Amino acid sequence: MNKPVRRIWKVLLGSLTVMVLFLAIALSAVPVPERTDFGPSIPELRALATSTGEPLPTEFRRIVVGEGTMPELALVAGRFLGTRSAVYQAHQVLYGDGRTVIVDAGSDAETLGRNMPGSRIQADNYARLQEAMRRADAIVLTHEHFDHSAGIAHSPYLDEVAPRAMLTEAQLHGRDPERAGFTADVVGRLKPLRYERMHLLRPGIVLVRAPGHTPGTQLVYVRLADGREFLLVGDIAWHQDNILLPRMHPRLVNWMLGEDAEAMANQLRYLHDLQQTTPELNLVVAHDAAQMAGLIQRGLVQDGLR
Ligand SMILES: [Zn+2]
Repeated sequence: MNKPVRRIWKVLLGSLTVMVLFLAIALSAVPVPERTDFGPSIPELRALATSTGEPLPTEFRRIVVGEGTMPELALVAGRFLGTRSAVYQAHQVLYGDGRTVIVDAGSDAETLGRNMPGSRIQADNYARLQEAMRRADAIVLTHEHFDHSAGIAHSPYLDEVAPRAMLTEAQLHGRDPERAGFTADVVGRLKPLRYERMHLLRPGIVLVRAPGHTPGTQLVYVRLADGREFLLVGDIAWHQDNILLPRMHPRLVNWMLGEDAEAMANQLRYLHDLQQTTPELNLVVAHDAAQMAGLIQRGLVQDGLR
C-alpha cells in the first residue's frame, strides 16, 4: 500500500472508532447507584398526608387525552427494536364533599401535534378534562413539559383555570416555557407555589420536589381514605421497567432533553427501593399505558373523570 492510501485508511479507521465509541456511550445509561439519600420515607409521606386529621380523598381517576408510540430505544437503555404504545393522561383526586384536585393538564391538539408528530389527541376527553379543570379545587403538574401543562396555557377557560393552577416557581420559569404556551402574559396570571422539600397540598396529597427530568419535576403522593396509595412519578420513568430493573433511558436522551441524569439515577433508586419495601404503594408512570391498564383492571384506579 502506498503512503496516501495508508493515510486514508488510518483516517477512516480512526473516525469509525470514534463513532463506535460515541454510540456506545450515547446508547448506554448513567448507572443507578446502590443507595441514595433522595426522598422522604413512606412513614414520612403518610404522616404529612394525614397530619391535619381532615377527611382524606375517596377516589382516584384518570383520563386519556392523547395516544402515541415511543421507540424502545428511547425508553430503556439496552433495548433497541420495536415501539410501545404511550398514553397522555391526566388524573383526578376526589373528596367526599365534591372537591377535586387535578394532576397534569394534558396538551391541546395543536401543541401536541407540533411537538409529537404522529400522536393523536382524544378531543372528547380533552374537553372533559377542561371542564373538570374549571371545577377543580386545585390543579398541579408532575412537571412543566408541554404534554402535561399546555392544557393550562392553552385552556379556552384560562380566566377560570388560572386561579386554580398551582405551578411551582421552577415549573413556571423552566427551560422553554413558551413551547407549552407559557408566555409572559400567561405566566403573569399564575401565582407560583413555593415550597422547599415537601408540601401538603390538600389532605392526603403531598408534593415532593424531584428536579432531574426537568427543573420543576415533583412527585405527587396520594393517600385515599380506604388506604389506597399512589405515587405519581411523572416522567422520571417513561416505562415501569426503568424503576423495576432499575435502569434509565440512554444518555442520548439525557443530552437531548437537558436532563440531570445523576439526579434521575438517584430518584430511580429511591423508587425501586420503595417498590420493593412497600409493594402496596401504586406507582403511576405518566406515559406507561400497560401499567395503568393493570391498575384499572385491579379496580385501584377508575377510568374517566367526574
Ligand atoms: Zn411527558
